[in-house]
Amino acid sequence: MEKGGTNMPALYIHLPFCTKKCAYCDFASYPGREADFGRYIERVGEEMRAAKETWGKMPVETIFIGGGTPSLLPGEAVMRLLAMARARFDVDPEAEITCEANPGTVDPEKLRDYRDAGVNRLSFGAQAAQDGLLAQLGRIHTWQDVVQALEWSRQAGFRNLSVDLMYGLPGQDMRQWVETVEKALKLPVVHMSLYSLIVEPGTPLAKRIGEGEIAVPPDELSLKMRSAAERILARRGFARYEISNYCMPGWECRHNITYWTRGEYLGVGCAAHSLMCGERFENPRDLDAYLAGAGYQNWQKIPIREAMEEAIMLETRMSKGMDLQCFHQKYGVDLLNSCKTAVNRLESLQMVRISDGHLHLTDRGMDVQNAIVIQLVSALSNIVKQCDTIQ
Ligand code: SF4
Repeated sequence: MEKGGTNMPALYIHLPFCTKKCAYCDFASYPGREADFGRYIERVGEEMRAAKETWGKMPVETIFIGGGTPSLLPGEAVMRLLAMARARFDVDPEAEITCEANPGTVDPEKLRDYRDAGVNRLSFGAQAAQDGLLAQLGRIHTWQDVVQALEWSRQAGFRNLSVDLMYGLPGQDMRQWVETVEKALKLPVVHMSLYSLIVEPGTPLAKRIGEGEIAVPPDELSLKMRSAAERILARRGFARYEISNYCMPGWECRHNITYWTRGEYLGVGCAAHSLMCGERFENPRDLDAYLAGAGYQNWQKIPIREAMEEAIMLETRMSKGMDLQCFHQKYGVDLLNSCKTAVNRLESLQMVRISDGHLHLTDRGMDVQNAIVIQLVSALSNIVKQCDTIQ
């Protein structure tokens, strides 16, 4: 990769520590490693220093501290982390700085410290309003912990607050899901992410499902759950701005929009991924290897065909749709003309619509986004065969 000349608006910092592993979790997260917090923070600081040496003091408009459970870190550790980030990057004074948090790991003092450190957005993994479902997922908190954590967050001065909720859980029925969404709406949040449970192979939850002990609801019920949530949220002013994300006007997550528009981002910390200068690379997933100094690996210059497919896959997730002129400028391809037949068919099925120079998926289209992406990508395939790699 060439030095300098990059514009990296987004910085992701991975904190891989958790109190215990949730039953469905396949993320890079390590329970019982509290003794390594200090070493890890310093290692991330070294990594950021090396990035500065390679690419210069890059501008940063958003920082996302994800995990794992970043909120396990004491306030001083988050202060140190963000102070190091500011020393190594040109962090915008108005930067959106998000920290993911588990409701079972915060207290008023810690939240005030996070706020003082510069964190201005908290994203809590709430998941469900029924303690039985939370226990089945292996979560360490109750719904009352969620209510308390959000109240403390408001008292600490946070306004930009989000919760993650999950549907399609084993044993979860429509009544419980609607209750979860209604209760979440009583929290002081401006943003919600709704995720369908993905049963990852090898997890304890997958084992229980595989053995027939518990079962996930049928796909049709999961789809109905999502539609029900959408109707409830819309009535309360939460608009869907991405397939899984809803917010009050003006409270979109700026960091995630960078991912969905294929903007550049640098990931630091174990298992973090990056996209810089048309190349993808990642850090080792293994915590000990990372602590021992192992750095970026699996460098891959992204072929233009793949970059276009990614753009179609990611940008159609957003309600504002794909900017067709921007696509043309970036990849030299007129998407509408190239995929005319496919787009016309999808329009007649009311799956997509074209307006303001954007290709949008309708609500109906959002439910089958994968199938639409496959149609657009295959329609494109003939004209991109001759393309090489991004310059
Ligand atoms: S808190 Fe999140 S990262 Fe940690 S084990 Fe649970 S799901 Fe995984």
